Amino acid sequence: MSTSVLDENVVYLAYDRWVCGRLDCAGWHAARTGRTTSGYRLTKVTGADVEAWMREFDEPLSCECGAISLDNPQAIVQ
Ligand SMILES: [Zn+2]
Repeated sequence: MSTSVLDENVVYLAYDRWVCGRLDCAGWHAARTGRTTSGYRLTKVTGADVEAWMREFDEPLSCECGAISLDNPQAIVQ
């Protein structure tokens, strides 16, 4: 029925927030189109993102629903 273009196990940057591919986290529009409702194309989190986040906030980078939290930049495979 609905086909998501996002991976549930991946964290994406959706303009100014981190979401995973789950429908209730990324939202229907992003899951279907890979873009936010304002047209921003979601990009996969990178190891550098996680590293920068942890350096700045001293905590794992997690998506909005909390299903995924990343604390190992080396583990991010692009
Ligand atoms: Zn999530």
